[in-house]
Amino acid sequence: KEELLKELKGKETVTKSGQKVKLYANIGNVADTAAALMNDAEGIGLFRSEFLYLESADFPTENEQFLAYKIVAENMAGKPVIIRTLDIGADKQVDYFNLKKEENPALGYRAIRICLNQTDIFRTQLRAILRASAFGNIAIMFPMIISLSEVQRAKEILAEVKSELKEQNISYKDVEVGVMIETPASVMISDELAKEVDFFSIGTNDLTQYTLAADRQNPALDDMIDIHHPAILKMIEITVKNAHDNDIWVGICGELGADLELTKFFLDLGVDELSVSSSSILPVREKIREQE
Ligand code: PEP
Ligand code: MG
Repeated sequence: KEELLKELKGKETVTKSGQKVKLYANIGNVADTAAALMNDAEGIGLFRSEFLYLESADFPTENEQFLAYKIVAENMAGKPVIIRTLDIGADKQVDYFNLKKEENPALGYRAIRICLNQTDIFRTQLRAILRASAFGNIAIMFPMIISLSEVQRAKEILAEVKSELKEQNISYKDVEVGVMIETPASVMISDELAKEVDFFSIGTNDLTQYTLAADRQNPALDDMIDIHHPAILKMIEITVKNAHDNDIWVGICGELGADLELTKFFLDLGVDELSVSSSSILPVREKIREQE
């Protein structure tokens, strides 16, 4: 089986009738890039930037972040690297943030909410990402979006950071900007969100948690929850349609993206990209190449 999968390295991710899908890897730190490349990832569809904060005793500096993003961008040698901005809170806790204890952290102060409130943290990260953009093909995406105003505010801050860099003669590229679709609210306003961004990436892990009211961290629910619940599949369908109606591309970066039982469903919807853990890349490529 291993040998068979190896033969898929260097092959295109395309169905028999010629439908292409971008097949990217999810990574959680710089070292993960090696496995992504070894498994022939066509890009990084989700770079979880939290590791920088989780592994550190204090806020990571701009330069520490810049170096991490730059190494990944350079290693991927021109292939896309989509960096997700800080998604701390809930299942990802960091002491020095001094976040208040919450009754319902998954529904609490987290991710983009922290970034738009404590903008210093956000600006530092955006500066680091933009500086690294000069060394490869970087895109930015924002997590846990529920409203249009959040995206507009995040883009405003990004524009401010860009002009600051320009004034300082520090080079950067005009990166693509996307949002994660991982709350039911973002699905329902995805027609409006699509007009603000270059792409969507559907985070089925949180989307499932929030849609089915099922804590993703509670193993007692694992056998009870239908991960192919029609509500989730419909939400994916709505999101893809709204993306394409507005001429932007859409991918899936949650665990469902690697679910081989759904590969045909995703192809039929016209999903443009699947971002999966590195070990799933070749199996997903094989499945796609088997489809008509
Ligand atoms: C998701 O929610 O589906 C996702 C990809 O992000 P994370 O698992 O890091 O929350
Ligand atoms: Mg998520």
